[in-house]
Amino acid sequence: MNPLPQRAVHTSRQFNDLPEPLRSVLRIALTERATDIHFDPAPSEEVLRFRVDGILQRKELIQADQRGRIINQIKVAANLNTDHSFVPLESDIELQSEWGDFRIRVSIIPVGVRAAAHLRFLAADRTVLDLESLGLRAENLQHITDAIHRGHGLILVAGGTGTGKTSTLYALANALDLQRNIVVSIEDPVEFRLPGIRQLQVNQHHGLDMQAGLRVLLRMDPDAILIGEIRDENSATTAARAALAGRLVVATIHATDAAMAIDALKHYSVPRYVLSGALRLVITQELLRRVCRKCSQQRAPTPNECALYEKHGLTPPVTVSKAVGCGECDNYGYAGRIGIYEITPIGAELSEAISRGDNRLDFCKRIAAEGHQSLEANALQKAACGTISIAEAKKLCFSR
Ligand SMILES: [Zn+2]
Repeated sequence: MNPLPQRAVHTSRQFNDLPEPLRSVLRIALTERATDIHFDPAPSEEVLRFRVDGILQRKELIQADQRGRIINQIKVAANLNTDHSFVPLESDIELQSEWGDFRIRVSIIPVGVRAAAHLRFLAADRTVLDLESLGLRAENLQHITDAIHRGHGLILVAGGTGTGKTSTLYALANALDLQRNIVVSIEDPVEFRLPGIRQLQVNQHHGLDMQAGLRVLLRMDPDAILIGEIRDENSATTAARAALAGRLVVATIHATDAAMAIDALKHYSVPRYVLSGALRLVITQELLRRVCRKCSQQRAPTPNECALYEKHGLTPPVTVSKAVGCGECDNYGYAGRIGIYEITPIGAELSEAISRGDNRLDFCKRIAAEGHQSLEANALQKAACGTISIAEAKKLCFSR
């Protein structure tokens, strides 16, 4: 039995040729900066929800007489068979529009006699493409620039799902001198086309997995390789060895801090001496909601909040931000998201600790002793300067 969903060859279409109500739903989703659209069948309706800034919002955009039609319209646009399917369906839609080209990844599954669908905008959240606009502290920007300009070694971008790792990977790629370097990437999927970079997409259906793709790319004389993302033993080992052999390798990895990223690579059987020799820098990140600038308010921090600032090595601020809600932000209190970062350069001591095989606790203590700003401290600082709410910063601190 084939365990993979049925996949169609993706198609390129003009946005304005899409039928209604699909075209309106997509247009509104793009205007509202939605990253995902969800359709779910309910007894007498089609439940439509957008994910904006990581939060689901229900939308009443489909009129009663249009219910049921929209799933078919998505199937047609995605080149999928419109008959009822008993297996999951997957495809991509490439759309050309007056405000740029973009891609939507479509997944549809049968739910009883109806269907549920998920649409993901692959390029909707990709406006930040240079390192300077990531909002990093000057010293962190310097650590990253140094690691890139060394021209060899492994840089890891660690974070959970939906923390903006791909945006950072692309920002790092943009910082490379593409005139003087051959830059290649292997991605699953390619979320955004970057001019001047050879981007290869993993295609399991045609036998092109991460490892096979990496092997092909390594034979193409690359100076730098981007990997999105390391998920198995073969690609982890190949990536680390390529970095040790003199290439610059920048890879995303699912991990919540530097120590966990290193543990993940060890788990993928990367030998300690290879890892300690190759790893130059770990960027750990989270994506938090920005407060709405129109309505956010400042208030004094509570004694517990002051203690939290002190715990993370910061002087408690006079005021912190709080989300309120106004007409501008749909009474939501937030508008857009911002990256929170922890930058861990791997110097001689940390490299030695990796080679020795220090356990997670010792390794974390050693990182803390080096005095780089933690993810928690970065979030608390952004709450003090009014970019995010104190509630959002606390949520991050208590979740770790
Ligand atoms: Zn507001």
